[in-house]
Amino acid sequence: MLAQLVSPCGRYLMNWPDLRYLGIVGRKGRIPTWFNFIENNFLSSFSSSLLLPLYFINSSFTLASPCLLDHTVKDYHFYPQWAINLDSATQTSSVGRVCITYKKQNSAIMSHWLPVSTSADERTYNPCPGCALNIPALSRKFAIKQRCNSEKCFFNVILSETVGYPTRNAKVFAAYLPITLSTSWSYATSLALVHLTNSLLSASPSLSPFFKDRIEDDVLPPSVQSLYTDGSFHPAKESLPSSMTSAWIALDNDGLILESSSMHLSSCFPSALRSEIFAVLLGLSALSHDFSISIYTDCSQVISLWTRLVITPFSLKLLQEPNHLLWLSIRQLIMDRNLKVDLIKVPAHGDDIYNIQADSLAKDAHSFLQPTVLPSAFCYAPCLLTFNSLPIDVNIHHFLRSIADARALLSFCSMARFTALGSPSLFDWAGIYFCLSQIKGFASHKNGRPEFWIFCIKLLLDMCLP
Ligand SMILES: [Zn+2]
Repeated sequence: MLAQLVSPCGRYLMNWPDLRYLGIVGRKGRIPTWFNFIENNFLSSFSSSLLLPLYFINSSFTLASPCLLDHTVKDYHFYPQWAINLDSATQTSSVGRVCITYKKQNSAIMSHWLPVSTSADERTYNPCPGCALNIPALSRKFAIKQRCNSEKCFFNVILSETVGYPTRNAKVFAAYLPITLSTSWSYATSLALVHLTNSLLSASPSLSPFFKDRIEDDVLPPSVQSLYTDGSFHPAKESLPSSMTSAWIALDNDGLILESSSMHLSSCFPSALRSEIFAVLLGLSALSHDFSISIYTDCSQVISLWTRLVITPFSLKLLQEPNHLLWLSIRQLIMDRNLKVDLIKVPAHGDDIYNIQADSLAKDAHSFLQPTVLPSAFCYAPCLLTFNSLPIDVNIHHFLRSIADARALLSFCSMARFTALGSPSLFDWAGIYFCLSQIKGFASHKNGRPEFWIFCIKLLLDMCLP
């Protein structure tokens, strides 16, 4: 729900008048209490609309249709349109009216207006009386001199860095008077930023570091034809925690190994399958745009899941799968980088030398240090839920259920009848939990209330211990 209330960039809560203008809330009536609740609890401070980082929303999920300038307007004609310009060279934004466009030169003449206050909610502007931006020759142009006597400050802008300002009222009267537009300065800027960033990213991916915060991946040479991937998993044993590793090797057409990589993975949601999927994801993330690649794996489960989760249209069911974040990341990488991927099965214990090599690379990585970066650093999925900063990569319902079970067990362990007997280490709680969870009817999800679960156990214990 929050996604509908935040700015297009996903970082600010929109104000009520903007939400009204966008038709997200009703046009009449007072501001409801739920909105005040969000304002009081979700924002980083009283004076700003910046959300707490916890509530930031990826901009691909916000409701933002860009406000574009009318491209049917003829060049050289005077046709003012409210616009916002983001100058990438100076990193400044300006509001005003694009008066005359020159599409072939990718430029336009824009008049300069200034918000009457520095508040982010400001929507009222005065024409700039003249500032450092002003190019006097522009206001002496015949079309402007004839048709535009309400503004004094004119400057040149790059058309591809300029978008429309969402507003219904656009009429400027000849007098030197302020105008109040339909949406706030912060909404218009956020919308422009998201639109221009997206169009810049899709136009030239090489320009993206300016906006990207992810560490740039290694890029394999174009002569790479195939990848061998493998994962390795040691389940937890006695005092040793579980350990997951992944490895890939990249080969050219002649079977020459051009590059290889292996990594010790952080042990969240550990499984053999996860280490295998991770190996494919890490291999794919080393590829640059428009690659065609064959990936060899000895894990038939990865291949069958690939057929079901990657090469089919997106379905919400995917979110119920374990490791869905890895699968989503793979889908996103393939789409973003326009990759063509073939998955090929190799026999697990055959004599394929490359598979043996990938396997031993993965096995050796168990001795490496665990990565110090957060597990989310490898995530390319457009949206992720986290719990204590760990991405939740299992079915969210199962996850919530195990949290509820853990809480129920905790209240069970701390019951007075046990604490009276002595130190908690007297009991094998893991064993008790295992036995109880085998009994149907004791699982917390049968009845959402953990108290009920404990009540049942208490009855059982009273029957067993006279
Ligand atoms: Zn100015």
